[in-house]
Amino acid sequence: MASIVTDFLTIDIKSKPYYVHAKQGYLQHNLLIAAKAGQDVYENTYNKYNNLPYALKENNHISIQEIFRDNWDDFVAHCKATNKPIRNSILTNVENMINCRNLKKGYLFFECPKCNNIYIQGLSCHSRFCVSCGRKYRDARAIEISKTCIYAPHRHITWTIDSSLRCYFQKYRALYNELFEAVNDVLTYLVQGKSKSAKKRNERLGFISTIHTFGRDMKFNPHIHTLIAECTIDNTGKKKPFTYFNYISLRKSFMNQLLKRMYNYLKENAPKKIVSDFYKLKSEIFKNRDNGFYVHAPQTECKNPKQIKKIVNYVCRYAGHPAMSESRIIKYDKENRMIYYYYDPHEDDAILNENDKIGRQYVTESVFDFIAKLIVHIPEEKVHTTRYYGFYANHSSLDTTHLPKLYKLDEINKMKTTLKWRDKLIASYKYDPLLCHCGAVMNIVPDLCYFAGYTKEDG
Ligand SMILES: [Zn+2]
Ligand SMILES: [Zn+2]
Repeated sequence: MASIVTDFLTIDIKSKPYYVHAKQGYLQHNLLIAAKAGQDVYENTYNKYNNLPYALKENNHISIQEIFRDNWDDFVAHCKATNKPIRNSILTNVENMINCRNLKKGYLFFECPKCNNIYIQGLSCHSRFCVSCGRKYRDARAIEISKTCIYAPHRHITWTIDSSLRCYFQKYRALYNELFEAVNDVLTYLVQGKSKSAKKRNERLGFISTIHTFGRDMKFNPHIHTLIAECTIDNTGKKKPFTYFNYISLRKSFMNQLLKRMYNYLKENAPKKIVSDFYKLKSEIFKNRDNGFYVHAPQTECKNPKQIKKIVNYVCRYAGHPAMSESRIIKYDKENRMIYYYYDPHEDDAILNENDKIGRQYVTESVFDFIAKLIVHIPEEKVHTTRYYGFYANHSSLDTTHLPKLYKLDEINKMKTTLKWRDKLIASYKYDPLLCHCGAVMNIVPDLCYFAGYTKEDG
């Protein structure tokens, strides 16, 4: 069964032993019934059992929910004792996540029409911070983005900031808006800056920006990923290709705009000392950063729908990954409250020669440090971490209805079916939760369902 990890550096994540449930009497009995009902039913039942929380545990799967469940109360007490306040949105998100699928908070009740088997499904927490609910949230967002995209080449732009500015974003979270707006300023100016007629015709690019507050190492590092269509549209609906993105000017004008916006914001909202410190820092940065902030906008092959979809997909997936994926956690030492995990530095992405890469980094840290690193990335309530601009803006006056979309409606509808809880399980974990081991499909029994904490379920 599950091997005990003694040296986290030598463990091969992919070769985890697979837990075989059939050893348990009751489950073995059900598997026999399933085997009689046919190969598909057998496989379905087998996968369903292997995905039960305690089976995953036997299989060395470490869940973030479990880590928080074991340590959250003590962590909160520790923060209180050391006078470190925790934001409300963190408290709500973490508490919801800890109780995700907890039957005490409500469940759906299913029964088999053929045998007397039942199935109970705990309700989901809908927290963006929860591993499974957050994934659903990001999948839905990816579909929204795909639905918005017109049929035109697209590009991925990454906007990073000077590391000395990070602390301001952590202290003043409303500065996220300035970061988004600085990108908007730059991309608006790029088209309209030197042309009065472009301004008059309100010629705009269309783009979608997502904020990330973490680097691969999970440290606080706010930056923006932008998916941009390589064309402009004006108020007559005329579409023009726009493919030239001058790196140097993008970098410089992004730095200028951001520093200006940050300064103005702090002047209004921060104590004088912070403003004067920022003013000094700003001058320092201007002096030392001749090339502006690092902005990355690689051009990729984008000629046919397939290639365009590939880049849109890539950005959606990239912008949608969480700060920490459970698969990166190698070991959780509950007694000593230690966590072992790894990350692959982003610098390595661009390096082709394996020998030149920094390579996988392994981190050993206390559970409290790990929790602190993770929760810092929980956004404030109702803050949109993905925003639409230019002709992609929700309330844009520019008409794009005459332009063909990248995805057809039936493609989008097909994507949407994967969001449903049952279809998601079938797609991700290869089992249908409602397929009984006897081969029949279970039905919901509304009278026996229980709703304590939540009113809505994604079933
Ligand atoms: Zn049945
Ligand atoms: Zn959840």
